[in-house]
Amino acid sequence: MADYPQTVVELRDWFATETACRDYLVRLRWPDGVRCPGCTATEIWTMKSPFYRCAHCGYDFTVTAGTLFADTHKPLRLWFEAIWHVTNQKSGASALGVQRVLGLGSYRTAWNWLHKLRCAMVRPGRDRLAGVVEVDETFIGGPEPGKRGRGAAGKSLVLITAQADGRKIGRIRLARIADASAASLEAAIRQAVESGTCIQTDGWSGYSRLKTLGYEHEVIRPATELGENLLPRVNRVASLLKRWLLGTHQGAVHPDHLDYYLDEFAFRFNRRTSRSRGLLFYRLMQQAVASEPVPGKTLVGGRRLKRTPANSG
Ligand SMILES: [Zn+2]
Repeated sequence: MADYPQTVVELRDWFATETACRDYLVRLRWPDGVRCPGCTATEIWTMKSPFYRCAHCGYDFTVTAGTLFADTHKPLRLWFEAIWHVTNQKSGASALGVQRVLGLGSYRTAWNWLHKLRCAMVRPGRDRLAGVVEVDETFIGGPEPGKRGRGAAGKSLVLITAQADGRKIGRIRLARIADASAASLEAAIRQAVESGTCIQTDGWSGYSRLKTLGYEHEVIRPATELGENLLPRVNRVASLLKRWLLGTHQGAVHPDHLDYYLDEFAFRFNRRTSRSRGLLFYRLMQQAVASEPVPGKTLVGGRRLKRTPANSG
């Protein structure tokens, strides 16, 4: 039997109390039994709820310690509702929507929650793309300036990598890059794509050294002058991404925050065929208890100072 609720009624049934929420997090975080987050010992004493004490090193902890839910002052039930809401909105949730659905007092809180959930969408230890992978860059935040290799005011350059799955699109990765220079492109590609992979690009010079980095490289050249869809998968992802940013977020994404939106888009895209919305809820829950907490003090203008520049999947 699946270990996640299938409907919102089941959600509220399963998680009617804080204890039920905690028990669920314990199952997700420690499927093989409670483990000390400090020293990984498995001899653990259960103290006054919700505390545990490590018999080995004496460390006192709770199931939320070191996770996205650490230091939260709101009930876990509300967090579970938020995660349900976020994973059930087909095109993604906005801060305003989260605030309304949960009845949160402040927009800022809703924004911070969404931010934390986006951070959890970056799966720890994710694997890189392999097989046949299309790679291209696209500008976000305005019409394409036409010139490559340099940035443009108010626009962000995003590297899109899309794995081929037959004629369809497999998994994707998105990464914001400083410019379309070989150095920037190569660094982002190495983060996203397994070496030995067959990479397809257009004829841009920034991709010319990929073979020396251990990739197979296929340059797709236009056969005619007319707009042929040379890299159909990355082009499709680029247009879906732009439509999503304009639709769900009204194009109001500040360049400083774009990384998080890219993570959310990749998380949703890579799981778009999940038949069950409950499964999506379950995956995000798993990642929430696996991820590092995002303390408020590392947010500067809503932006975390350090992050890894790749996406979930
Ligand atoms: Zn310990």
